[in-house]
Amino acid sequence: MKTNLTKKNSEVKVITIPIHDNFYSSAADNGLNLQQARIVIKVFLNKMNFSKDIRNNDIFKVVLDKSELVVVSYEGKLGKITAYKNKDGMFYSAEGANKQHTSFLRKLLAAYRRISSRFNKNRLYSVTKRTSPHNGTDFAAPVGTPVFAGTSGTVIISKHKRLNGNYIVIKNGKYLTKYLHLSERKVKKGDRVQVGDEIGAVGNTGRSTGPHLHYEFYINGVPQDALTVKIPSNLKGADRSSGEINNLIDKYKQFL
Ligand SMILES: [Zn+2]
Repeated sequence: MKTNLTKKNSEVKVITIPIHDNFYSSAADNGLNLQQARIVIKVFLNKMNFSKDIRNNDIFKVVLDKSELVVVSYEGKLGKITAYKNKDGMFYSAEGANKQHTSFLRKLLAAYRRISSRFNKNRLYSVTKRTSPHNGTDFAAPVGTPVFAGTSGTVIISKHKRLNGNYIVIKNGKYLTKYLHLSERKVKKGDRVQVGDEIGAVGNTGRSTGPHLHYEFYINGVPQDALTVKIPSNLKGADRSSGEINNLIDKYKQFL
């Protein structure tokens, strides 16, 4: 057995785990006990599939402070994810949901032609001269262009309605995202999705004047501008406690 301690001081110990074959054996080879390995898997459970996503040479790191597992990080095919244990006993990610949402938007914008209509609370309808809010963002794209999940969560609606056409709604705690006018729905009610998963395809169904994705983002039922919304960092879909994670990041980032 090779123990791989990259850095050490009197109280803090870092264990680096380069993956070969599978997570459990790699963790054991580097001195992680079974209980600690289970914690790592639990922390990343909604971020990755340990049988599919883990590759040789991906690297996990675990920070132990007075033998307590306080930070876990992963770097590999899925990018870099670091999670810190908060006072409530939960692990929260430094990169967080906001960064994920940003990378989702980048993916979306790369695949799409343009934003054809922005979020606008006070949109004026020229015909009626009344304000009618545009509670979403319209992304123009050819029929069949993939549509990705803007947040992880559970599909609570996947069906066809007269105005929305084929549409999907994903809920994660207080966050809700809606995808309208699809040509195709690839998820059904009850499915769990990860941010960036392909959930359907752009269409022109329902009340739509051309192929586009109408995308809505809600926090606690209040529509947000999906292009600028700030989402607190977390792994669980609940709010992280304010400021505390930043203290943990400051304390442990030197070890990662
Ligand atoms: Zn729209």
